[in-house]
Amino acid sequence: MSFDEIAPDAKKVAIYGKGGIGKSTTTQNTAAALAYYLNKKVMIHGCDPKADSTRMILHGKPQETVMDVLREEGEEAVTLEKVRKIGYKDILCVESGGPEPGVGCAGRGVITAVQMMRDLEGYPEELDNLFFDVLGDVVCGGFAMPLRDGLAQEIYIVTSGEMMALYAANNIAKGILKYAEQSGVRLGGIICNARNVDGEKELMDEFCDKLGTKLIHYVPRDNIVQKAEFNKMTVIEFDPECNQAKEYRTLAKNIDENDELVKPTPMTMDELEELVVKYGLIDV
Ligand code: ADP
Ligand code: MG
Repeated sequence: MSFDEIAPDAKKVAIYGKGGIGKSTTTQNTAAALAYYLNKKVMIHGCDPKADSTRMILHGKPQETVMDVLREEGEEAVTLEKVRKIGYKDILCVESGGPEPGVGCAGRGVITAVQMMRDLEGYPEELDNLFFDVLGDVVCGGFAMPLRDGLAQEIYIVTSGEMMALYAANNIAKGILKYAEQSGVRLGGIICNARNVDGEKELMDEFCDKLGTKLIHYVPRDNIVQKAEFNKMTVIEFDPECNQAKEYRTLAKNIDENDELVKPTPMTMDELEELVVKYGLIDV
């Protein structure tokens, strides 16, 4: 299955990372920054059964997911009007959704939703930036699809200086390497969503070095993110002049201009453990 024909001129990016690390927050703020500061036509397709990849762009309105509509109303009910919403700065929003808990496979939902969107011509030709926000705790089946089938050309991994986040990031790098030849997918870089702990930047630089990639941006932890979220907005919309908005603007620009796309060199488990011990992260 080829996805080359989807939004041929768009920069097609997938954001991966461990659950709870900040993928959706980072994706939405980056998308908002591209639309607000750089006037880009942007779309976000959420590929996490949690289905909250577009909540702030849509100001908290619950979005009907592709899988929900499919399950509850049948295939004919899945229309663009129903499952693709327009949010802040005309950003287009879709959520794959997931199966009923305990029934079926969450990754399968990603494949179904992406295929349906493609068949409905739901990814417009004139897009500048298309983001897939993908759960990366497990890089299997449907969750590997954006990198396996050439859906996204470049992957950014969100992580912080925690063992489990680095472990997930390294696994995602392994997944990219596995499919690099077949689909042409590449790693664009690491996004550090910081915990603001000592040595985090140095650790991240070393991690990027080992993976053969670069730190695309170091995003600080800032309470304004929660404050904006409480108001159901991205930081960009909430306060475009604040420091955190500028950080997301820099991240958006760095991604948009990035052309250093690599086949990563994942670490062995021993190397990863060594790194964690060196920076004293074993007890977090
Ligand atoms: P994921 O999509 O990876 O599961 P989320 O984007 O939902 O994670 O983030 C989890 C929580 O972390 C959110 O409630 C968000 O407010 C918070 N968060 C994410 N990034 C930051 C940041 N840079 N500063 C402060 N809080 C953040
Ligand atoms: Mg999320």
